[in-house]
Amino acid sequence: MKTINKYNPYDQMLAVLDSAAEKLGYNLNDYVALRYPERVLTVAVPVEMDDGSLNVFTGYRIQHSSSRGPCKGGIRFHPSVDLNEVKALAAWMTWKCAVVNIPYGGAKGGIEVDPSKLSPRELNRLTRRYTAAILPILGPERDIPAPDVNTDARVMGWIMDTYSMFKGFAVPGVVTGKPIEIGGSLGRKEATGRGVSIVTEAIAFRAGLPIQKAKIAVQGFGNVGGTTAKIFYEKGYTVAAVSDVDSGLYNEKGLNIAAIAKYAEANNTLKGYSEKGSVEISNEDLLKLDVDILVPAAMENQLTAENANGIKAKIIVEGANGPTTTEADAILNEKGVILVPDILANAGGVIVSYFEWVQNLQAIFWDEHEIYSMLKRIMIKAFDEVYALACEKDISLRISAYMVALDRVVKAKKIRGIFP
Ligand code: GLU
Repeated sequence: MKTINKYNPYDQMLAVLDSAAEKLGYNLNDYVALRYPERVLTVAVPVEMDDGSLNVFTGYRIQHSSSRGPCKGGIRFHPSVDLNEVKALAAWMTWKCAVVNIPYGGAKGGIEVDPSKLSPRELNRLTRRYTAAILPILGPERDIPAPDVNTDARVMGWIMDTYSMFKGFAVPGVVTGKPIEIGGSLGRKEATGRGVSIVTEAIAFRAGLPIQKAKIAVQGFGNVGGTTAKIFYEKGYTVAAVSDVDSGLYNEKGLNIAAIAKYAEANNTLKGYSEKGSVEISNEDLLKLDVDILVPAAMENQLTAENANGIKAKIIVEGANGPTTTEADAILNEKGVILVPDILANAGGVIVSYFEWVQNLQAIFWDEHEIYSMLKRIMIKAFDEVYALACEKDISLRISAYMVALDRVVKAKKIRGIFP
């Protein structure tokens, strides 16, 4: 087995997987196939730029497991996208879908690109050419993309159209997180943030921390962090700090998240915003603030061996995928910090994606109330299961979540057997 490369997210995923397998009493044979993605596709994506020049971008779609159902997972557009990142993200989707027990395997896609440097027309061409390149492995019964970092409903709409034009008829179920007008689901956009808020309340309750009195810091102000902060604010909780890639804000008495969201929407950044009592902080400062609850909801590898000792929060809820390195995880565990892992904490998005897909397949749509109550039911059931196992075995919530997930995937694999 490979040694751990500090910042290779796939190696970090393997380290947790191996620990969970050991706790489950598995032999390597029982789960070794899950240490490899089932299918890795790398594509060259040529795009004619508005000035007439040609740029070739590198894209990926990786299917980690299809044992429990069609592969499922988002597509991200980011300059740091690479093979190991997408491999890790695909595997995390397998564990995420399994821990909340929805009938999917895991996949992820990405393009190495800075989308802020592209015009809307270039972005459209990039998305469509990438979709055409990965189209042979997509489909509502095969692999269903969704939004991730820097992709949104508009991009999903282009994916749906490209796939449908190749097929010759509308196929809404090929992608989730679409605009409502073409088969998107109510509540999908807010789903990840809503899920994060549900598990934050659940863990605060279990930890005996009255959430109404807690100080909360949220790193990241995109779809996940921004929505989570807004939901906390609307519930009357104290969001003492927020940040985006450019800047951060701190007010120990609580920030006006509604005003910040308005500013961010208009200016595309938090930079330049100020309110009475707020001070500007860096992203790194935010992680070390004297708060009760920390929600890293930006990118991978934010909590590292270098800063983990300085974390003062008692509870961490991972809104992002992979924000904590393996070393940081060990340090935080040692310090007694309670950490709700990504595969559970941010599963709200894929849960409502599942609802969207089911609605598309049935061509019947549900109202927001039905969606939220089913989301809550699934999140709480998964949380309770993971929490109970963690208490019973005296292990971290991360290992417990992986054990619940791995056990489900391994059982499915065993029942199906190995082809041929
Ligand atoms: N990108 C989201 C995630 O990491 C959502 C995936 C989906 O809805 O398929 O969970």
